[in-house]
Amino acid sequence: MALLVQKYGGTSVGTIDRIKAVAEKIAGYRDRGNDMVIVVSAMSGETNRLTALAKEIDPAIRGRELDVLLTTGEQVTIALLTTALHQLGYDAVSYTGGQVKILTDNSHNKARILSIDSINIKRDLSAGNIVVVAGFQGVDEKGNITTLGRGGSDTTGVALAAALKADECQIFTDVDGVYTTDPRVVAEARRLDKITFEEMLEMASLGSKVLQIRAVEFAGKYDVPLRVLSSFEDGEGTLITSDINEDDSVEQAVISGIAFNRDEAQLTINGVPDTPGVAFQILGPISEANIEVDMILQNIGADGTTDFTFTVHRNDYDVALSVLKEMAEKLGAREASGNSKINKLSIVGVGMRSHAGIASRMFEILAQEGINILMISTSEIKISVVVEEKYLELGVRALHDGFDLAEDKDE
Ligand code: ADP
Ligand code: ASP
Ligand code: MG
Repeated sequence: MALLVQKYGGTSVGTIDRIKAVAEKIAGYRDRGNDMVIVVSAMSGETNRLTALAKEIDPAIRGRELDVLLTTGEQVTIALLTTALHQLGYDAVSYTGGQVKILTDNSHNKARILSIDSINIKRDLSAGNIVVVAGFQGVDEKGNITTLGRGGSDTTGVALAAALKADECQIFTDVDGVYTTDPRVVAEARRLDKITFEEMLEMASLGSKVLQIRAVEFAGKYDVPLRVLSSFEDGEGTLITSDINEDDSVEQAVISGIAFNRDEAQLTINGVPDTPGVAFQILGPISEANIEVDMILQNIGADGTTDFTFTVHRNDYDVALSVLKEMAEKLGAREASGNSKINKLSIVGVGMRSHAGIASRMFEILAQEGINILMISTSEIKISVVVEEKYLELGVRALHDGFDLAEDKDE
């Protein structure tokens, strides 16, 4: 008998029939003697639908009221799933984040979980109940409703698993595990049996939305055994673990996956006087506008001036460009410009640490396809490049092929 925390994503609870099917699946686990805590997302498309409604009134809506609105999506699914479990004859009880209580900080729309009160859940489990918790939400110290950012139900699942010391946190979704790249872009992508926390964290940070970044961070920090599985088919899924043994790592491919991010935009300021403090003068106002910068590139100065390029989230592009244009005037720079039609493409793998020549192989593969690289950034276990949007899918496929990711290295 085990304590399992299972999270079901939006597509998995997207219709009444699917909710009934999820209830059957949970009932099967319960029949095998497991204690079950279930986290659910809103029905697929619901969070987007609610956001669009709010934007009809205030296109720039953010903050407290948006959270009050968005959390209703998950409140619907906990009630429906719990009712479906009752109909099958099981004892079950639903909780919103606030009822649990999942305490967060007060940064609305992207709150962090501070603590979880597990008393109610433990009591209900001992009484034989299946406990169903709304994902993606909590309350701050003052009782304000908060949300954890898009994809945040994954984090609710992992945080509950950590608080309850569950045997495993299982993320059920519409694919049967973590793949070498998004299987919707590369049909030959291969499911990984295991991936390290470190690699999964890079994949998530670089755009693979199969798990929310914070969920992976949390699982790594508290050593929560984490698995991604299909809601629709049986299978082992992918285990995310720190425990990849020596034999595995000898066999392991140098590159474990390819991630991409379509949400980036690039900004450039040309002909800036090349003096100490110039990077700070440019990026200071950007960060004051609450805009996070991702990649940064400064050219070597020539004739006393330099060029400076960086990337931001596409949602921040317009504001960043107007801040930069103001800066260009103040600094006497030649020009500020931008390109919102760029994507970031990355290869990830712990094996890169011990292998030279991976970067040049990546650039060679892209060059063979005639794909121009606009920016490059590297760390110990990843290499990212910025390319024009139109080359994204071609680039992902070429790299997947060029690094032989479709072949199973374990065979
Ligand atoms: P859920 O609604 O269940 O949370 P998400 O849409 O958030 O599901 O995440 C699952 C999706 O992640 C898949 O449908 C797939 O298109 C995408 N995805 C991106 N990268 C990967 C990857 N490397 N492996 C598997 N799925 C990926
Ligand atoms: N419903 C939220 C979203 O769509 C949270 C989640 O599904 O994880 O982002
Ligand atoms: Mg998700």
